[in-house]
Order: sequence, then C-alpha cells, then structure tokens
Amino acid sequence: MPKHLWAARVSIVLLGGILILTTSRPGQRLIAALDLRHASRALLYGSGSPFEGLRDSSSEALQTDLIIQTPLNPFSDPSNDDAYTHTVSRGSTISSIWGSIKGAPKAAADFAQAFVKHGKSAGQLKEGEVLEVRRKDGEVVEVRRQISAGETIVIEGHPDEGYSSRIERARLIPVDRKASGTITSSLVASANDSAIPYAVIDDFVDLFGERIEFNKDLQPGDTFTIVYEERRTEGGEVADIGPIKSASLRIRGTMFAVVRDVAKDGTVRYFNEKGQLPTKGFLRYPVKYTRISSVFANARFHPVLKVKRPHHGVDFSAPIGTPVRSVGEGTVVFAGYSASGGNMVRIAHGARYTTEYMHLSKIAKGLRKGSHIDRGAVLGAVGNTGLSSGPHLHYGLFDKGRYIDPMRAKIASDPGNIKAPPAVMAALDAMRREHDAVAMSAPARKSRA
Ligand SMILES: [Zn+2]
Repeated sequence: MPKHLWAARVSIVLLGGILILTTSRPGQRLIAALDLRHASRALLYGSGSPFEGLRDSSSEALQTDLIIQTPLNPFSDPSNDDAYTHTVSRGSTISSIWGSIKGAPKAAADFAQAFVKHGKSAGQLKEGEVLEVRRKDGEVVEVRRQISAGETIVIEGHPDEGYSSRIERARLIPVDRKASGTITSSLVASANDSAIPYAVIDDFVDLFGERIEFNKDLQPGDTFTIVYEERRTEGGEVADIGPIKSASLRIRGTMFAVVRDVAKDGTVRYFNEKGQLPTKGFLRYPVKYTRISSVFANARFHPVLKVKRPHHGVDFSAPIGTPVRSVGEGTVVFAGYSASGGNMVRIAHGARYTTEYMHLSKIAKGLRKGSHIDRGAVLGAVGNTGLSSGPHLHYGLFDKGRYIDPMRAKIASDPGNIKAPPAVMAALDAMRREHDAVAMSAPARKSRA
C-alpha cells in the first residue's frame, strides 16, 4: 500500500448500505465504495485512486474486514425518516419509550403486551441499549430489539390492527476456531490470554480430566491447542459456541489428545491420542473447573470443630448455587440431611467406588435413595449447610470404603476395542506433526547439564 495514503484523512460513510471511503487529498476524493447489501459481490471503485492496485489481489481481504466491522443496518441511516434508532435512557419504561418513538397512544397497552411476551420485562431494558424503529405513514409498524448476537425480538403491527412479537434468529454459520497457548501461571490464565470462552475451557478440562489433574500436572511451558466451533452471524458476531472438535495437550513433551467423532447412530465420542475409545471413567472435578476458586486437600484443622481431624475429602471453594455434578454414572445410596455433612448425597459407582458431596444448599429435585444418575448429571448445588465455615463443596471418593484422594486417583478406564475411523487417525497424525514442530522451535526448557 502506498505510504502517502496514510498522510491523508480517510472518511468512512455508510449510506443506504453502500460504504464509501473518501480522503481529504485533492484529486483523489473517492477511494472506494463497497456495496454491503450484496456483500458477496461487493464492488470496489476508484478512478485514479491509490487503492486501484488492490482491486484484484486484496479486494477480498478488504471486503471481509469491512463486513465484519460494519453490520448491515438500514436503521442507522439518518437520511431515512421512517427507520431510525432509539437509545434507551435511564429509567425508561415501555410506555415512556412508546411515547418517545411517537407511538399511537391508543395502542400503548397492546404494544407493551407484545413487548413483554417473550419474557423480557420493562425492567430488563438497559440504559444505552438500542432499539430499531420503523414507521410507515406516521405510525410505528416495527420495533426490533437485539437480545443476543443471533437473536432479535421483532414487534410488528399497526395501531389499528394490534401488535404481535416474534423472535428472529439469525442464520448462523459454523466456523472452526483454533486457539492455542502456553501455560504461564495457570490453564485458565493462559486460556484467557487466547480469548477462549469458559465453556470451552470446562469442556477441555472434562475431556482430559480422567488422566490429568490440572492443578498438579500442568507446568509453565506446557502447551495446548483447542479446535472448537463458533457459530457466527453473517455480520461476523459470535452467537454461540459449539463443541470441541479436537484438542491436544503437551505435558513435558508427552502429547495427550482427543478427537471428536460422530458414530453412524449419532453418538458423539472422543478418541484419544492412540486412536482408542476409552470407556468413561470419573470426571476429575464435581463442579465445572472455571467455577472453582481454589482447591485444597489433605489433613487440616477443621475450622468449625477446632480439632484436627482426618479430612476425608477435597474442599472446593465455589459460590453458593454452583451446580454440583456426579463424577460418574451410579446409584444414589443417600440423599438427605446429616448433622455434619448438611445436605449431602452419596453415590455408589458399581461395587467398588463411592463418592460423596456435602454442605449442599439444595439437592436436585426428585433425587433420592435408589435413583440412577448419569456421569455429569447435576445432583445439587454448592452451599454452606452442616458443619461448614463458608460456601464450599466437600467431595470424597472411596475405594471399597477406604478414602482415596480424588485429585490423585488414577481410575483405570478400559481402552475398548473400537477402532478409530481414518479421519480421526489422520487428524491425530496432523496434531502429532504440529506438536513436534512446535517442540522443535520452542526454546530449550531446562538445561539437563
Ligand atoms: Zn471438607
């Protein structure tokens, strides 16, 4: 790009869906015009413009960038009297908004009813939020309120015929996003640096948790890569996060991996780095990983009884109400109140293992002795009941009645006999090559001299 361009002031104007770039430089006023209404065949003009050379090589890149930053929005065109935006001010109510957008007084109640129909009360209107309004012949005929990246409430009608509302869902385009990072202080910190959403981190931890204890096994310098699906609107906004497609973790040179595959009957399964499909063991953490504020174990001074006592469990500090999951499939053998454990649930997982969950604020509805529970199913919520000095979950794991540390336990899972499909094997090969390349280029970690 010619350097002199940057000396000129560039103006960007959106007019009726046409994005116009002009400069302050004499003789070169029009640089480019992009027709955003037909984004797939955007036009790029510019006679004698410094952008001329871009027409062939870079127009596509330019086009994509501009579309992402400039959502198609006829309502932002101030020259159009019939379509405009209304910004919600502090303390607004539906009826005050109706007044501001010059809605017909006789239809105020009808409009308000249509507005709240989708569970969105006036109280949830936020200061600064933008409503799109369209009028025809002086009457409000449409109001749009975006509730998420992919969802808009549309209220439409006429004062004489009444108003109705519906939810409009944007067409979402699945895009694979690849994110990787190097552990610096913790997994969550490193994932934050790579802008990985918490829901993806939690899934990642659950996928590897059977084999890895994230608070103990990870060290600075270890690396990870996650490929997951993002569902984006046509404007490029992320509306939804899909499943992890594949992920890998390199701990002191050893690669662990998972690759998602959907079987012919629709069952979702994850193969490991050896192309095996292990039977499901236990989840490492009974609350989602990103909800744990600290993890601490071992014998300690019990803060309520003021006596040192064996502490058969791990305490997870997490806010009251945080969902608690059964770490494995099993049968409930106790669900109720005990003086020291408060609201507690005990689950038998086959003949050998038992887990227990204490101090719950509540036990899941309908859960009682004899109930079957799935791995990952919510059994209650973190609380502060029984002998507890603050909101936390006490979680214990027992092997034939003997306590074992759930943060260290390696409960063998059966590798199984199902062979990974060729696509999974190919994905694993690619991951291995990539990991080797990263390992080669990484600076030496520790001198062995
Ligand atoms: Zn405890």
